[in-house]
Amino acid sequence: MSTDLHDLGVAELAAQLAARKVSSVEVTQHFLARIGQHADLGAFLATDHEVSLAQAGAADTRLAAGERSPLLGVPLAHKDVFVTRDFPSTAGSRMLENYRSPFDATVVSKLAGAGMVSLGKLNCDEFAMGSGNDNSAWKPVHNPWDISRVPGGSSGGSAAAVAARLAPATTGTDTGGSIRQPASLSGITGIKPTYGRCSRYGMVAFASSLDQAGPMARSALDCALLLSSMAGPDLDRDSTSLDLPAIDYATDLIAAQPGGTGAKGQKSLQGLRIGLPSQFFGAGCSADVLQAVRAALAEFEKLGATLVDVDLPLTELSIPVYYVIAPAEASSNLSRFDGVRYGHRAASYGDLTDMYKKSRSEGFGDEVTRRIMIGTYVLSHGYYDAYYLKAQKIRRLIAEDFQKAFTQCDIIAGPVSPTVAWKIGEKSDDPVASYLADIYTLSSSLAGLPGMSVPAGFGAHQMPVGLQLIGNYFKEAQLLGAAHQFQLATDWHTRRPPGI
Ligand code: GLN
Repeated sequence: MSTDLHDLGVAELAAQLAARKVSSVEVTQHFLARIGQHADLGAFLATDHEVSLAQAGAADTRLAAGERSPLLGVPLAHKDVFVTRDFPSTAGSRMLENYRSPFDATVVSKLAGAGMVSLGKLNCDEFAMGSGNDNSAWKPVHNPWDISRVPGGSSGGSAAAVAARLAPATTGTDTGGSIRQPASLSGITGIKPTYGRCSRYGMVAFASSLDQAGPMARSALDCALLLSSMAGPDLDRDSTSLDLPAIDYATDLIAAQPGGTGAKGQKSLQGLRIGLPSQFFGAGCSADVLQAVRAALAEFEKLGATLVDVDLPLTELSIPVYYVIAPAEASSNLSRFDGVRYGHRAASYGDLTDMYKKSRSEGFGDEVTRRIMIGTYVLSHGYYDAYYLKAQKIRRLIAEDFQKAFTQCDIIAGPVSPTVAWKIGEKSDDPVASYLADIYTLSSSLAGLPGMSVPAGFGAHQMPVGLQLIGNYFKEAQLLGAAHQFQLATDWHTRRPPGI
């Protein structure tokens, strides 16, 4: 049963491809057929068999010529927030209906250069604003574990596609949790790197001081393989990208596998101090989630890690701070959609102002409109100091609290989401209920720290629960290493949704 191609992860597929046991064209055809069979999940917004098979054919030529590299010929799919030349790029918005970019996002071209084959574009919340993927202008995404529930958001299509084995890996973006939270709710692994680790060039901008790209896959090892190619400086095109050399995140993990050389590998988690902020384990978190998280932490203890209590006293303030700063930046970023240069333009209008008004009202959905209005308000004269500036000051304090905590521990752990996935539509009429569900992911985003979600068991309704691991700046390798050791000892990340 588990010899099907779609059951293989990135590393396993790469090995089969390198051994020429299967061709990239065969693998790609297999996944494209599955995407068609599972179209009801709503995970994909665009596919193009001709484009994908041409890319696969090119990978096969490289393989036939003897080229070997860890991602060559392996398929993936991109969140629709990344612009792509070969597929439409809508960012989940009517504003960008049928939009074709003249260039590829840096992350997209880096993965293509590594030989990955794109299966298409993945559904997401409009302009990445949301926590349930029910803010997509096109259609909701269904959680493969229970199709009546959300997959999380805003990278909901990216998470559902991996969980349903429609792609071995996907890209996501995380502004306030949009990689970690859907990974948690859909039972897969995802990492948001340190702010700046991956170039933002060609990512449709939401909140530029927070936006960060990252990989989503079933295992930490597969995420490491992708991140090694995605990361790296891109200073000519994104001045906030980190000027640090690319790292081979996967080598240490592979070395640490049973049978690996072990030379560079971490054999166990002996000596790793995991900090547990009391604010992440309080009454706000549902009992089923806490139980799964605590059981996972007990597993880390068995692997040699020690648990220490830490304090992140401003955690609760991360919600109001984020929901001031993110809309402020969004209102500025989205002002470029004016119907003039690109994007939707109303079919009929009076003067120029009327053209702006009609084009923007027709193109933007409710949540995006709400955030533009909040953002414009908090940036306006007379409110700037009271809201925006205040939020920036608290943001700095939140970052300092993390640095204090990191004097006591190496990694901070807790839940990703206070509950398992909720029913589609349950929070649609109550945006604040959605905002509150971001409580555990926002603070590390505001601080610019790397964080990941690792499958850690199941909670209510047999829905997946993710464990969040937050590292200090530039410590992605440490997070991936700890997650990998956990995944060598547990099998939560290999579980499959019923009927998949
Ligand atoms: N749920 C958060 C929001 O709606 C985070 C979104 C994201 O990370 N893109 O803004």
